[in-house]
This record gives sequence, C-alpha cells and structure tokens, in this order.
Amino acid sequence: MSQKVIFATGNQNKVREVRQILAGLDLDVKTMKEEGIASDPEETGTTFEENAMIKASAIADVAKDAIVLADDSGLEIDYLGGEPGIYSARYLGEDTSYDIKNAKLIERLDGVPKEQRTARFVCAIACILPDGTSFTTRGTIEGYIGWEPAGSNGFGYDPIFYVDEYGCSTAEMTAEQKNAISHRGNALRALRLELEKVC
Ligand code: IMP
Repeated sequence: MSQKVIFATGNQNKVREVRQILAGLDLDVKTMKEEGIASDPEETGTTFEENAMIKASAIADVAKDAIVLADDSGLEIDYLGGEPGIYSARYLGEDTSYDIKNAKLIERLDGVPKEQRTARFVCAIACILPDGTSFTTRGTIEGYIGWEPAGSNGFGYDPIFYVDEYGCSTAEMTAEQKNAISHRGNALRALRLELEKVC
C-alpha cells in the first residue's frame, strides 16, 4: 500500500506541483482538506525553515502514520536587506493587493541600478516522517526587481521578478517553464532526493 503524504496547503496549484515532482514514488499525496484537517498556526518563526516546520508540526500532531509536508516561501530583495522575506504575504498587510505591494517595492528601488536590484524567491519545505524524524529542504531562484510589472501568469510578486536567462518576469513564463527553475520546484526536487532514501 502507498505511503500517505499530507501536504499542508489549501493551494491547489502547489498540490499539483508536489504530485508532479513526487510522481513515481509510492506515495499517495493528500491535501489537508481531503483529510478533513483544518490548521492555520501562527507563523512565529524567524526563518522560512522554522515557519515551514511550525506548519508541518501542527499537522503531524493530528496525522499519525502519514508523512507531513509544509512549505514556506517568500521574496528577498538584497537592496532592502532581505525584505519582505518571511513577511512576504504580510507585507503592507495581508489583504493589500499585489498591484500595490509590487508598486511600493518598485518605488523603494527608485534610482537603484540593475546590479543592486538582485533578489531571490526562497522556498523551504519541512518534512516530518511517521517515526517523528524531520528535515527541511530549501530551493531558490535568483533574479532582479524590474522597473515595471510585466505578465499576468503566476501570482504574488511574479510580475516584478525578472530572470536574466529568460529576459522576462516569472509572470510572463508558463507554469511549466517556471516550475522547472522555481524555488518551490528546486525545494521539491531536493525533497524527492531525500524521500527516495526512505520510501
Ligand atoms: P506562502 O509560502 O505560500 O505563504 O507564500 C508567501 C508569499 O511569498 C506569497 O504570498 C507571495 O507573496 C510570495 N511568493 C512565494 N512564492 C512566490 C512565487 O512563486 N511568486 C510570487 N510570489 C511568491
């Protein structure tokens, strides 16, 4: 019988990506919703890894015999000392539109030359095995903050995050192009390597 995996998210796009990248392993990936679990712990950590582990632990407490996964991600802008970082979702307020958040970040980089506009998306994934052992993986994608938003694919900060090799923002990429190089894709591929050792 397949090993059950519970992924701590309500975001169907993330679940699809997890299923794609873990395909071929003998795992049955379920969402919290499918398992009837509701959990939204306060993200009190000071790193992406800590916050991912807080989310995973909250589920592991009620999900016996399953592998539990949770992720935490965000945008780090070097010129702003790593802001918005772990506060990416909360930046300027959780309910503020990304049009406003993105415009504000571009404004804060007014006059800053390209070589100082470097940024990265970071994703940490926490994994708790049924025996209680746990580990985290991290994936990143390097880019820079553009001078204006472009593209309508993706979500969040994608329209202002540009990748040199592609000459466009991540909001101008297809989901497949982005997943192949993204922070979340890279963290999930690192996770797969770890799970291959134990599954
Ligand atoms: P979470 O890890 O899903 O809570 O995401 C945290 C926040 O980071 C999101 O709400 C976005 O603001 C930002 N973020 C994370 N990954 C991406 C991405 O791939 N594109 C754009 N924004 C992202």
